[in-house]
Amino acid sequence: MNDHSDVRENLDAVKAEISAAEQEAGRDKGSVTLVAVSKTHDGARIRPALEAGHRVYGENRVQEAQGKWPELKAVFEGVELHLIGPLQTNKSDDAVALFDVIESVDRPKLVHALARSMEKLGRRPACFIQVNTGEEDQKAGCLPDDTDALVAQARDAGLDVVGLMCIPPFDEEPSLHFALLADLAKRNGLTQLSMGMSGDYETAVAFGATHVRVGTAIFGARPKLT
Ligand SMILES: *Cc1c(COP(=O)(O)O)cnc(C)c1O
Repeated sequence: MNDHSDVRENLDAVKAEISAAEQEAGRDKGSVTLVAVSKTHDGARIRPALEAGHRVYGENRVQEAQGKWPELKAVFEGVELHLIGPLQTNKSDDAVALFDVIESVDRPKLVHALARSMEKLGRRPACFIQVNTGEEDQKAGCLPDDTDALVAQARDAGLDVVGLMCIPPFDEEPSLHFALLADLAKRNGLTQLSMGMSGDYETAVAFGATHVRVGTAIFGARPKLT
């Protein structure tokens, strides 16, 4: 598809749904930030959203983001780029250099690598601690029981911990996971919650999400990655 006008329409529709969900939940208008997840999509597909004024984007791979975002950031001012995918410690410098928010901090080793990179580069991206609320073997994130300790470690290391992030199990009712994440955040004095994707972001707003990460509903289906 060469005509990307659908992106603008999808973006407007998602924003309208977020506003409606905020209102329905009795939340302040504009209290939920839409992180438009542009992973796998190229610059041509992302541009209509940038041209429409949207500035907050999510990518899950450092290398892929390095390939397209420096150029887009140079053209469009005020872009806020979120890393939402697993981060290897050897990519920590690259992540700190490019991203404005790192949502996938999930283990002590990564906390320390990020702290070193931030010191070295003089940049301090905001961080979310990712929690594996479903305790799935294959999924990134710290276990719910380890969350308090990891938050404390990240704070001690000097990271700017702003909130928690989760990806509920694909086949479970997400609201239980959203409620658990909200509880864990509250008891750690954290006010930001990154939760909710294309299929469940309205539910997430009802459970207190401050950030929803929406890809497919804006940019369309992704090519299947094996
Ligand atoms: C891909 C991805 C999303 C967006 O998922 P959609 O279902 O396409 O909205 C959100 N969060 C994370 C961590 C992702 O990797």
